Amino acid sequence: MFKSLRWKLQFFYSALLATVILSSGSIFYYQVWRSTFTEVDRRLEAAALYLDVTLRSFPPPVQQGIEATLMPPPPLRPDGTAPPPPRPRRSKEQFLEELRLPQELNIPGINNPRDQPYFMVMTANDMLLKKEYLPQGYSEEDSLAKKFYPQPTLIMLKNNLREVRMIGPGGTKIIAGKSLEYEIVRMRYIAIQFTLVGIVFLVFGVGVSFAIASRMVRPITQMSATAELLSEKDLGKRLNINQIDSELAGLAEVLNRLFSRLDASFSRQRQFTADASHELRTPLTVIRSASELALSQPRSPAEYQETIEVSLKASERMTNLVNGLLALARLDSSNADFHLRQINLSDLASESVSLLRAIASEKQVSLVSDLHSVQIFGNPESLSRMIDNLITNAILYNKPGGKVFITLKSYDDKAVLEIKDTGVGISEEHLPFIFERFYRVDKARSRLSGGSGLGLAICKGVIEKHNGAITAQSVLGEGTTFQIQLPIWNY
Ligand code: ADP
Repeated sequence: MFKSLRWKLQFFYSALLATVILSSGSIFYYQVWRSTFTEVDRRLEAAALYLDVTLRSFPPPVQQGIEATLMPPPPLRPDGTAPPPPRPRRSKEQFLEELRLPQELNIPGINNPRDQPYFMVMTANDMLLKKEYLPQGYSEEDSLAKKFYPQPTLIMLKNNLREVRMIGPGGTKIIAGKSLEYEIVRMRYIAIQFTLVGIVFLVFGVGVSFAIASRMVRPITQMSATAELLSEKDLGKRLNINQIDSELAGLAEVLNRLFSRLDASFSRQRQFTADASHELRTPLTVIRSASELALSQPRSPAEYQETIEVSLKASERMTNLVNGLLALARLDSSNADFHLRQINLSDLASESVSLLRAIASEKQVSLVSDLHSVQIFGNPESLSRMIDNLITNAILYNKPGGKVFITLKSYDDKAVLEIKDTGVGISEEHLPFIFERFYRVDKARSRLSGGSGLGLAICKGVIEKHNGAITAQSVLGEGTTFQIQLPIWNY
């Protein structure tokens, strides 16, 4: 499962999504949490300051918990009239009765006043002036035992109580506080909501990522399915590049090219097997029919001799063919048996020229050689056989009185060997195929000369093994030139 590309993609997407949901949810939750509690603190501080300012608006006796003494009546005006009576001051009870936190300092969204801020005001010597909405179980003694500060100071008490404490006018002690139960429950509720929404998003995201991962690996699955369908008999199938995403189109093209090469290689192999069987069958049929004919009735010694000669010729052809097949098989196989060493190509060419001079003169063809010394790194046996083959062809497919020019030169870092004849030439339609196995331009003539149609294919194989190239140019009726290029040895 962990080797599956789809599962890896799926896992990666899901992990990424979970991380994004978790981190963004946590950040968002933290922001809500912070703003909620900051707001509570801000309002509690405002409440304490409000109480402080309100207490200041009354004369000190109120602040100290003493009844205000009656003021003496104001002096008469110069005209003898009594001044207008001063505005009646509120009594201490009335003032304390009316002392409460204004609506604006309440926390929005809370209907129960018990969940809103509470407060408590005491004189400097701990006499209670006013308390409102103190939560249940609130211990006034414990609270008074704690320190008060000149500035509004926030503290956290047991049972999730948040308080601002400060010293007001005339040493009064002011407490404004709030139970955070409501906020904590609300934050818990928000956390549950966030978790549920996160889970829904995650499930949805995992579903989408599954679909995406499946969609992404589908072309690969299709490609492997098509590749699987390709059997030896149905190598014609190809991947449809138009239906494949651009990133995978390159791979599909490579696979298609591979299929084409395999297809071509299998066809060549089939063709080769068919051709080889056909080539072997002909001499076998000759031997068999000649032998049957000879044995069908008593024959004279001369007739037997003729039969044996025919069989010998046919077996010679078979030997040639089998040798050719063996040489090709060796060239097709690994490089293990193909030993290379430093050699002078001109030595090999001049050996071949002297070896074939006899056959050439028999065919009334003259060999003209111009060979310069060129060192190469190669296999002398196979290269000699190749040169022999090319010169033999140039002699056999020549005209009486014709010529074969063998030249060897070096250009830049290449040895260039040319075998040029003034023979029958090869027509344009045949020229591209002459290096193919069993390809013969004139079958009858080639067979007569003992040719198997494998010679040039072997030459090409040998040259390619040496990292070289062989080309042929020909004009029908005028002659053919084979040019071989091989890398020079210059170490
Ligand atoms: P083969 O053994 O039949 O000669 P090759 O592979 O050597 O087979 O050559 C393939 C065919 O190419 C020959 O059948 C022949 O028709 C043609 N060919 C090869 N060399 C020459 C040449 N020098 N001049 C004309 N035709 C040639």
